[in-house]
Amino acid sequence: MMTATAAATAVAVLGSVLAGCGAPERTRTEAVAPPAGSTIPADESSAPPAGAVPSATAEAGQGQGQGPPTMAPGPAGTTPVFERRAEHAPGGADKVVALTFDADMTADQGPRAAAGEQFDNPPLIALLRRLKVPSTVFMTGRWAREYPSQARAIGNDPLFEVANHSYSHYAFSSPCYGLPTVAESAMRGEVERAFTEIRRTGARNVVPYFRFPGGCYDDVSLKALASTGVTAVQWDVVSGDAFATDAGAVAEQVLDGVRPGSLVVMHCTRSAAPVTEDAVRRVVPELRRRGYRFVKVSELMRG
Ligand SMILES: [Zn+2]
Repeated sequence: MMTATAAATAVAVLGSVLAGCGAPERTRTEAVAPPAGSTIPADESSAPPAGAVPSATAEAGQGQGQGPPTMAPGPAGTTPVFERRAEHAPGGADKVVALTFDADMTADQGPRAAAGEQFDNPPLIALLRRLKVPSTVFMTGRWAREYPSQARAIGNDPLFEVANHSYSHYAFSSPCYGLPTVAESAMRGEVERAFTEIRRTGARNVVPYFRFPGGCYDDVSLKALASTGVTAVQWDVVSGDAFATDAGAVAEQVLDGVRPGSLVVMHCTRSAAPVTEDAVRRVVPELRRRGYRFVKVSELMRG
């Protein structure tokens, strides 16, 4: 077991830029420390950073019927936060679950990619297609720039929808697993630049959802993004796939955590999440055996 503090320290000490996303307290933390020299994302199996604003479980979205639903703004018009389908929402008892995959790449990781480090995960995408698992990919703008043909292919496959994970994958509140912090004045630009880069690839199925890098946010960042119109998307189940080496443990953590309406966070980057494909191969048939149906975040929100 690793505490949030230990995980954060490991990430910072090793110079990893990425970040983990906070996790609900009910989730087990079995993160493995990032291997020395590893690049990226952090471990997503730790507690939410102090100061994180409690996210509301969402109910019905707005704008139904015309494209992807979004949630109504929060108090004072701030960016709404979706975490899972609320149990009392329409369809809340349905056995649906959304798998989400963060395509992480940080603004300064270009040289590592040039040196051969793999921030993408084509075998994972191929597996999701083979198993016909609708899913949502939260892509950084930097990832889309690095892998434009993959971004386009994912964004034009009706099985998937592409959401926004910022351009740089820097933190929108601090502290956040050692990530550099985005200035408040630059937050909106981070989101808009990512959408621009993603759309530039030719990806068409782009949804107005945003995942904060590391899952770190506060009142300031929610307010700063209000004018972008995005709905922030967190999760209720942490897969623990970041830096994991045991696919079975990741699968078990997901299977233990999923309940009707759950939203699971995983990664789409071999560099920092090498066993995700293997974990998905175990999770999908078992959840189907238990009666679950996989949906994209937009459908989960619509419920
Ligand atoms: Zn991320």
